[in-house]
Amino acid sequence: MASLTNVNPALAAYLNEADPALWYRVYCPGDRYNIKTSNIAESITSMLKKAKGYPITYLIEFITKNLGRWYWKRREDALSLTTTFSRGVEYLLAVREHYADMMTVKRIDVWRFHVHGGQRDCLVDFEEKSCSCGVFGVEKIPCSHAIKAVKSAGWHMSTVVEAYYRKDYVYVSYATNIMPNVEHAPIGPDIRCIPPIPKRNWQAKESLVGLHG
Ligand SMILES: [Zn+2]
Repeated sequence: MASLTNVNPALAAYLNEADPALWYRVYCPGDRYNIKTSNIAESITSMLKKAKGYPITYLIEFITKNLGRWYWKRREDALSLTTTFSRGVEYLLAVREHYADMMTVKRIDVWRFHVHGGQRDCLVDFEEKSCSCGVFGVEKIPCSHAIKAVKSAGWHMSTVVEAYYRKDYVYVSYATNIMPNVEHAPIGPDIRCIPPIPKRNWQAKESLVGLHG
């Protein structure tokens, strides 16, 4: 926000006046987790390029067939995981653990830890599932401070990572089969849709003349 204020103070003022809960993830009252949905839309758009200009029935067949293949591939991938969490979350935890190993920690009570090192010293609270850096509370994936605290307490990582990131949740997301249409043969891509013939203005005028004249 400081950088934005320097570049465009009017825009910064406008954003401050608007409700930050509407555009700032850390102030959102709901749980947003760590999923970026625009990637899904981009993948669908890229897939649909190949079916551009085909009849609608063929387009539906095309989408069904491709989604069926995507679901099957992702289901197989989730089944092949030997880790506790999804591939992306495991990678994130490994990177953060690397930084956590350079930190020091002091335990305050059963749930609270004071972690030193990194960009700032932080208070990790496992009862509240939060860290003063803000990352743990927003993502539901422990930040490097929380990882340091978990390791020092000798707890398993699965006790602090939100269950939605587990590999069985990934599998369940793609568990449903998308069945192909075998009842009706689709119209093939060789048949092209022709636009309707427009009614010209002079025809309309002539019929009016015919009515009144
Ligand atoms: Zn933190």
